Amino acid sequence: MDPAEIKPSGGFSQGVRVQVLLPLPLAGPLDYRVGAEPLAVGDVVSVPLGRRHLEGVVWGAGTSVLPDHKLKTVAARLDCPAVPAVSRAFVDWVADYTLAAPGAVLRMVMPVPAALAPAPVTYVCRPAAVADHPRPTPARRRVLDRLADGPPLTVADLAREAGVTPAVVKGLIAAGAVVLEARRPAPDAAPYLPAGPALSPAQAEAAGALTDATRGGFSVSLLDGVTGSGKTEVYFEAIASALAQGRQVLVLLPEIALSAQFLSRFARRFAMEPAVWHSDLGEARRRDTWRAVAAGAARVVVGARSALFLPFPDLGLIVIDEEHDGAFKQEDGVAYHARDMAVVRGKLGKAAVILASATPSLETLANVQAGRYRKLHLPDRHAGAVLPDIQSIDLRKTPPPRGQFLAPPLRQALAETLKAGEQAMLFLNRRGYAPLTLCRTCGHRLRCPHCTAWLVDHRGRNHLACHHCGFVLPRPRQCPECGAEDDFAACGPGVERIAEEAGALFPEARLAVMASDTMTGPAAASALVDKVAAHEIDLLIGTQIVAKGHHFPLLTLVGVVDADLGLEGGDLRAGERTLQLLSQVAGRAGRAERPGRVLLQSFDPDHPVLAALAAGDRDGFVAREADSRRAAGMPPYGRLAAVIVSGPDADSVDALCRHLARSAPSGPDIEVLGPVPAPLALLRGRHRRRFLIRSARATPLQTRLRAWLGANPARAPIRIQVDIDPYGFL
Ligand code: ADP
Ligand code: ZN
Repeated sequence: MDPAEIKPSGGFSQGVRVQVLLPLPLAGPLDYRVGAEPLAVGDVVSVPLGRRHLEGVVWGAGTSVLPDHKLKTVAARLDCPAVPAVSRAFVDWVADYTLAAPGAVLRMVMPVPAALAPAPVTYVCRPAAVADHPRPTPARRRVLDRLADGPPLTVADLAREAGVTPAVVKGLIAAGAVVLEARRPAPDAAPYLPAGPALSPAQAEAAGALTDATRGGFSVSLLDGVTGSGKTEVYFEAIASALAQGRQVLVLLPEIALSAQFLSRFARRFAMEPAVWHSDLGEARRRDTWRAVAAGAARVVVGARSALFLPFPDLGLIVIDEEHDGAFKQEDGVAYHARDMAVVRGKLGKAAVILASATPSLETLANVQAGRYRKLHLPDRHAGAVLPDIQSIDLRKTPPPRGQFLAPPLRQALAETLKAGEQAMLFLNRRGYAPLTLCRTCGHRLRCPHCTAWLVDHRGRNHLACHHCGFVLPRPRQCPECGAEDDFAACGPGVERIAEEAGALFPEARLAVMASDTMTGPAAASALVDKVAAHEIDLLIGTQIVAKGHHFPLLTLVGVVDADLGLEGGDLRAGERTLQLLSQVAGRAGRAERPGRVLLQSFDPDHPVLAALAAGDRDGFVAREADSRRAAGMPPYGRLAAVIVSGPDADSVDALCRHLARSAPSGPDIEVLGPVPAPLALLRGRHRRRFLIRSARATPLQTRLRAWLGANPARAPIRIQVDIDPYGFL
């Protein structure tokens, strides 16, 4: 896209009606009258709404719904980069797909109001790409010559250097021969790009295909390669190519707050720091990054899913690393999947999209099979490193001692590894000390008063906590039910309890626990990762955070404490997700010269997921899983949506659900299941009922849902949430 579109000139003049979209969950844009200052589509403006003034975006020509005398006037145009056309189209598309209010989606594009305040952005002049100005006057000629030879200048500076009045420069801008654009800190020349490492033949082939893709407009490529095969190294080549073309690049990571290793690797490869975007950053940093992205100055952004909504004027490449990861799905507010929306964003902005994974999602594999995505394959680990040997430990045959959780074969492997001076990792996807606390006297279980959930024992902090709403209870001494004193039993393990057991077994070993709640923030997380990498830690015990991306050369043993954990429950993707997670955890072992091994503790080692892991038969598992989904008409072969009705009063929620059930869409291509209590039937004090809607792929699911829900609106405090392509099933 031509950068000139960052700041289109002209459009709507005084008195004309325009539509302004506000970042609020309203039905759509509102009409306003243009004030003294002319406006263009995409301009950020301040408008009155009720007694407030709000920032919004000029969305298009006004309608005539509102009578003239009720029409209010735009208060001001803000001095910040306009929201690019591609971002506006993206907002409309996402709103239409997710059934969210366009303003709610716009809020994701404009999440930092401070970024819109009078900005320290300077606009400079540049010759227009296609200049069409026959017979310029001598004064105009001097300006154009000055611009052709020199760097971009502000209107005032250009006028002074060319020896003309500013009016001459403005005349050229009006004529379209000169365009204004936000000044970039870096010159327009291609950035200095150091060369990457020499690639293996398979890597070079994939890298070649990807760099070609960055020159070819919209495309989607799956980069499918085992952990440690060099996927990152390969997509770095594509990034270099997009940068050399002067386009912007976005890399989405599932766990950006923990990605210090990735960022320093990036800085080493490209001799520059990427901009970082996630919700934990401070306001000032977010403001500066937002502006730098909008002005085109931020060349590379590494971010969490929300970075997809940044106003890139010229995004040429989007990389989704670990594309299968559930962290890309947002459930709160606007429910969207960043991987799927990235493909849409790529299409709207003519960008290449790369999806990288060692265990691609069934959705992506189905798209490869249908010929919509290209697949590039890296079959081997880099530099001859071998994939770890994966074996199950049958807990029925070799159980751990009573009240403990590490079985003898795992204990022995840990002892051998530590004795050899190597590192080990124990994986358990459960924070805290124990997931359930019960009274030995009466059997009462401590549960959250606001949610359908047990309270999790966090011994390190001396409290019990709800992982859904944050409710915290200081460790009680008395049972609230029977009054028994100090007679609670901790049931089952969390990582803290595993650390206790391992510490008692290996008192010499240097232990560390890594979970989102044991680290105070990104800095603490990266300090811990550095300590592990420097071999200041012998045994790392952690939740799924340890699975993500880290490269620890001396780590040779991974023990999965409870391989059955993710397979429980009726989740459509339980098997797929467990295979992905455990493959990723396993992938931490033996990444360098020393071979690794992985031990899976299970009560059901013959389960197809665990059998496939042990046999290294990912493709076989995926094929069987795909067959059963196809037979059941489930995603990716059918479509699914969840509708959650919630409110503080169960009876009125049920009443609305009965209404909805009576008018539910029906037909041969669509099926509505429910209402049933949602798996978390009580969440943060709200009672929740869920409908699941399944349809054929060709069915216009959104249209049917819109008609259905539109005829049965919810009145506050009851809420209806729609989740197209649900993942969480909460
Ligand atoms: P993946 O992303 O597939 O897990 P990485 O790109 O992280 O794999 O590569 C694994 C390790 O091997 C990293 O330390 C990486 O720097 C190294 N590596 C991969 N390819 C090469 C190469 N061609 N030359 C040098 N080192 C490489
Ligand atoms: Zn709770």
